[in-house]
Amino acid sequence: MLKQYNMYIDNTWVNAGKAIASINPSTGEILAEFPAADARDTETAIKAARLAFDSGDWPKMPLIERAPYLQKIAQLIREKADELAKLESLDTGKTIKQTTFIDIPTAASAFEYFAAAATEIKGETIPIHNPALSFTLKEPVGVIGQIIPWNYPFLMAAWKIAPAIILGNTVVFKPSQLASLSCLELAKIIQEAGLPNGVVNIITGTGKEVGATLTESKLVDMISFTGGNTAGKEIMKMASGSTKKLSLELGGKSPNIVFADCDIEAAVGGAMSAIFMNQGQMCTAGSRLILEDKIYDKFIELLVAKTKKLKIGNAISYDTDFGPLISREHRQTVLDYIEIGKKEAKLISGGIIPLAHLGGGKRLEKGFYLEPTIFIDVDNNARIAQEEIFGPVLSIIKFSGQDQAIKIANDTKFGLAAMVWTKDLNRANQVAAQLRCGTVWINTYGGFYNEAPFGGYKESGFGRELGKEGLLEYTQTKHVNIDLNPTGRSLVTSWFA
Ligand code: NAD
Repeated sequence: MLKQYNMYIDNTWVNAGKAIASINPSTGEILAEFPAADARDTETAIKAARLAFDSGDWPKMPLIERAPYLQKIAQLIREKADELAKLESLDTGKTIKQTTFIDIPTAASAFEYFAAAATEIKGETIPIHNPALSFTLKEPVGVIGQIIPWNYPFLMAAWKIAPAIILGNTVVFKPSQLASLSCLELAKIIQEAGLPNGVVNIITGTGKEVGATLTESKLVDMISFTGGNTAGKEIMKMASGSTKKLSLELGGKSPNIVFADCDIEAAVGGAMSAIFMNQGQMCTAGSRLILEDKIYDKFIELLVAKTKKLKIGNAISYDTDFGPLISREHRQTVLDYIEIGKKEAKLISGGIIPLAHLGGGKRLEKGFYLEPTIFIDVDNNARIAQEEIFGPVLSIIKFSGQDQAIKIANDTKFGLAAMVWTKDLNRANQVAAQLRCGTVWINTYGGFYNEAPFGGYKESGFGRELGKEGLLEYTQTKHVNIDLNPTGRSLVTSWFA
């Protein structure tokens, strides 16, 4: 019997009547089914969150009483870590190594971190020139609609839900229709932790139905969206109807700048992680390798040799370095880009559906596999250097001199992240200062910390996630002014006297 999931609205489990099949990308088989909610279901969830915010206890509770709920969620995640990691791997094709050692434990610590860090969020007293006491309060925004993509479902759910609820907001959360199962498991944990009705609602379905209803609803105060630029722009338009607050975490085409004076072995390893971790399906993927001419040939030789050794296979196996892409359709999109790339540059590795490592040379047809792919001699104006492919396709661009590296790196509509590899930290700092993006990793890749802010410049979006800045997104500032005039009356009271 196929496992059936329900969605979580107002502390009850709801079946939408219509279902979406969740496919295991490693095998192409159906893993489970979950509800395809419609606009009516979404409105029910929004009303539950609205009631919990407007009339419930949650926003009025002191922080110290909300924090234990988040700590309990973290504890339950840790207790179920192995099964959650396995499910995430089956549902998304992320390697089990990644879900076990990164996604699930980081999600647990995100709940703990935000429970503690919220104590840092406070207003201030403001010295003013009148006899008055002026101060600010940091208040919750209200009902938050949260929409995420499929590449980090469980972790992203923690990154969005934890900071929103700790500050007293209530949430309607929508995972991607391509990967919803771990988020529905999180809903079970949230229920077990005993959160009051309606504080967190997790509703599954498509962007056009659930996402659009959430974005257009006048009962929702803010949308926190992570996803692609096309949907991000649609959300901006839809949200304008009710002028709601927005936070947009969108795509990227991040430059990975490698100078000749780097630790080459480390930089090769870092470049591989930057484009081949999670099969390149990362918003921060270092998909443009901007490589100094002096080490161009040597670096590429090392990179290709190491890439060819990556073990491609079922994501659930601990031997696997490189799993499948999320879906057959997405793999086709990436293959189409590879065809474009062949006309624009030189393909030197991958670019095809791989042969099975075991199984008599038959191609891995059942899962959605694709070989890690490398193009060299790419012009930065090429489509494979400018457009987000969101797959394991690396475009290598040659540069000569620091100024040219910076120019190429910034020559993109995106501004999410960048990497710089050099042993000269002065140079690294100079370059970091000139890069127009939200995160710069120096001699490393992918350092995400619950404590440090993350977000985009330019078309990679606005607003920040994580850290104190991530918490502040879920607040609004109220100014309170108390008259302290020695006469007992402020000037305004006799203005028309
Ligand atoms: P997507 O934009 O297609 O979908 C993201 C989410 O939005 C899904 O839940 C989807 O159902 C919903 N959605 C789609 N259209 C919508 C609409 N019109 N109204 C409301 N909701 C809508 O993206 P995807 O394919 O799931 O994910 C890949 C994209 O996500 C890439 O561009 C990647 O760079 C980006 N991403 C960004 C970050 C970041 O933090 N900046 C992190 C991960 C992924």
